Amino acid sequence: MVQFQPMLPPGDVLIGEREIASRVGDLARDLAGALRDDLATEGAALDTPGRVVMIPVLAGSIIFYADLVRRLPVALATELVSVSSYRGATTESLGAALVGALPENLAGRHVVIVDDILDSGRTLGLLRSAIAEQQPASLRICVLLRKERPRDVAVEVDLVGFDIPDLFVVGYGLDYDGHYRNLPDIRMLDGAPT
Ligand code: 5GP
Ligand code: MG
Repeated sequence: MVQFQPMLPPGDVLIGEREIASRVGDLARDLAGALRDDLATEGAALDTPGRVVMIPVLAGSIIFYADLVRRLPVALATELVSVSSYRGATTESLGAALVGALPENLAGRHVVIVDDILDSGRTLGLLRSAIAEQQPASLRICVLLRKERPRDVAVEVDLVGFDIPDLFVVGYGLDYDGHYRNLPDIRMLDGAPT
């Protein structure tokens, strides 16, 4: 007999599909503009191969990344990274650690880290400093969501889709216990522990 686990149901829509799509278009335009300026200083252009490396943080950024890169008229390589954040009985972040190796070929290139959400800052703080050690020509962070809360680790992000209240959200790549990444909009999670 299959045992069905009860799940917390997704709640009200915080950001709808059309609003997300429109904002992703803005982010793509802003990012392409910034990269174009950087590349121009070295006599290169957006279609120069080998200069731009984009690094989506698995797994929360997959949907956002897929939409963002398809709107970027940029010759870019994709390198994946995975970071585990330790969460206790609550949804609060208790720490972050790299899973596997970082890409090793970032020196002198224009690097963009893409993540779903800036919460405690541990994940992106760790990645920014580890990647900076390779001395990329430029290093940017692009997040879809930024929570309005104090950070445990201060981290500058360069492009932000939406500032949201300090709530646990799911959908558009963000999960609860592996579920709900495929919801097309961003929703609150009813009854989520905080
Ligand atoms: P941080 O290290 O900044 O605390 O959080 C990093 C990761 O925790 C995010 O990349 C995301 O995967 C996860 N996270 C943080 N806040 C939320 C949230 O509200 N909903 C979901 N589904 N994941 C979150
Ligand atoms: Mg994540």
